[in-house]
Amino acid sequence: MQAQLLGYDNHPVDPLYGSLEIKRSALMTQQFNITLLPGDGIGPEIMAVTVEVLKAVGSQFDLQFQFQSALIGGSAIDETGTPLPEETLSVCRQSDAVLLAAIGGYQWDSLPRHQRPETGLLGLRAGLQLFANLRPATILPQLVEASSLKREVVEGVDIMVVRELTGGIYFGQPRGVFETEAGELRGVNTMAYRASEIDRIGRVAFETARKRQGRLCSVDKANVLEVSQLWRDRIAALASNYADVELSHLYVDNAAMQLVRQPKQFDTIVTGNLFGDILSDAAAMLTGSIGMLPSASLGESGPGVFEPVHGSAPDIAGQDKANPLAQVLSAAMMLRYGLNQPPAADKIEQAVLKVLDQGYRTGDIYSEGTTAVGCQAMGEALLNALT
Ligand code: NAD
Repeated sequence: MQAQLLGYDNHPVDPLYGSLEIKRSALMTQQFNITLLPGDGIGPEIMAVTVEVLKAVGSQFDLQFQFQSALIGGSAIDETGTPLPEETLSVCRQSDAVLLAAIGGYQWDSLPRHQRPETGLLGLRAGLQLFANLRPATILPQLVEASSLKREVVEGVDIMVVRELTGGIYFGQPRGVFETEAGELRGVNTMAYRASEIDRIGRVAFETARKRQGRLCSVDKANVLEVSQLWRDRIAALASNYADVELSHLYVDNAAMQLVRQPKQFDTIVTGNLFGDILSDAAAMLTGSIGMLPSASLGESGPGVFEPVHGSAPDIAGQDKANPLAQVLSAAMMLRYGLNQPPAADKIEQAVLKVLDQGYRTGDIYSEGTTAVGCQAMGEALLNALT
């Protein structure tokens, strides 16, 4: 059942990683239940564009999508008092894939931690056991000038960050703000990884690297943290099963430096939850705009979650300024990695390249000589490009 697929970054990809499963029923019927989580801020705007794109591609490839929307994040807090209603998790579990936009906004920032929008996102990842987050950072030739780094530094950059998503300091116990015996407040979080958690993300990373340029860089802080030493030892031990992959290790501070100094040295990066959160955003910015970057979060079975790397951009929400392309490319990743529909994914990715070739740009990627468009107009250009 494994297929050789071409990814957004034009590398063969294997969505199954041995044990990751695609729902068989979906493959046979070509009907897919997709849960849409538009969330907050620009989420509903970019999701609306993406649904139209999916419908257009669906009709071309004889794919029938059943969309159901559910609440998450701030909008869920406003309606139900919780950022991840039980109903949302249950609808997601029953679907073939989950397409998420973004959550969060200033108005919910002062709520207690367990009621914050971000808690809903972490709960979704944990609830669906999405332990592997794949974030491509590929420089598109049309957008080389959008990068804040020099052309010669970024041209040809093609990095995949594989981030562990359900462990590490974001989930470790104990956590909280406690009062010391002296009556002082003390904030505590715990960075912890079990060997099995490191091994399973390590396997995904080696498999990913093997299908790309065969180079894997594991990032940790083993010179200071015991948890990182275990990480390094386990990743190094896995290497004997992947003789075709060249493994290297970097401390996270050096990795951050190398990413902006000489990003072309990287092929695939594997790292834990916190370091991956930071480094994948840094890698994202090499490409010029966070508004262009999709991601996939996968578990061992069940639906994956496909979402843009960016947040809810409350500063431009409701103004028709958002770039919908990261969301649209997330839908392409969903078709490829989650629903095993590579031709439909290719079609969407080609449409994105075409609208960029035609010169259409939202504000975040605008440069002189191109045509400035809003979110909706970019959607219309995509629909034209598809047909
Ligand atoms: P952000 O990604 O929302 O915005 C950072 C900057 O990039 C802003 O200037 C924004 O306007 C711009 N930007 C982001 N996406 C864009 C797009 N598609 N088109 C054009 N411009 C875009 O990050 P932030 O400002 O740090 O966070 C805002 C809110 O989003 C916070 O509440 C944060 O918690 C949340 N957030 C959510 C996610 C998620 O849902 N996965 C990720 C990061 C941040």
